[in-house]
Amino acid sequence: MDKGFWRQIQDALFPRTCLLCRGRLDGDEMVSRLLCNDCLGDFECNPKACHRCAEPMTQTEPVSGTLLCGRCQKKPPAFHQILAPYLYCYPVSELIQRFKSQDHMLLNRLLSDLLSDYLMGQLDAEMIKRPDILLPVPTHWRTRLQRGFNPAACLADAVGRQLAIPVNMSVLRKPVMTHSQHDLNRAQRLKNLDQSFALRDGTEVQGREIAVVDDVVTTGSTADVIASLLRDNGAASVQVWAIARTPNQRR
Ligand SMILES: [Zn+2]
Ligand SMILES: [Zn+2]
Repeated sequence: MDKGFWRQIQDALFPRTCLLCRGRLDGDEMVSRLLCNDCLGDFECNPKACHRCAEPMTQTEPVSGTLLCGRCQKKPPAFHQILAPYLYCYPVSELIQRFKSQDHMLLNRLLSDLLSDYLMGQLDAEMIKRPDILLPVPTHWRTRLQRGFNPAACLADAVGRQLAIPVNMSVLRKPVMTHSQHDLNRAQRLKNLDQSFALRDGTEVQGREIAVVDDVVTTGSTADVIASLLRDNGAASVQVWAIARTPNQRR
């Protein structure tokens, strides 16, 4: 077999250049083998966020003792908590978009490692309850056919393996395709989403501590609708785990 072939395989499995800036990786950067330290340093974390919906908070927000945004104080959502370590902006947004458009194996590994590391810290510090089961946010079969995979399912699978939590890929279903949510206000979004998710078997979630896994939480409306469905079917609690939270989507 010629050397070039093996070199191509090696480069695909262990890239020596940063996925974002194409700079050469060396030293400790080779540990992650995917991003250089400069690009990793550009990741924007989401430290000052609402404890419930993870919406980034500003100084002018009404702040209670537990750092809840005004909306969660007025009308608490059905989920117990959203955990999203990063803000959905460059370079995290770029990595997530590439992962979703290409089913990029290395990006799945990188993003699920980042999410797992963060969650492991939260679990070790007893900041969150360890769920019994992970459920990926489902996609409609037509979307899955177009894209070829469900990014949330890939993430849930990887995170479940790293945290040793079972994943159920089939209990949550999305039998109805939803139209773009972009131009809708919150009430319209919830109406648009209502009835679009279903459970294959309600007994699977009864009495269980659940974490729903998604790649990005945009407005929290999908998380709210899914959490309502799970809690209506007897789930003990519902957390939502995602890599990133989109700021300033409040309407
Ligand atoms: Zn870089
Ligand atoms: Zn909130």
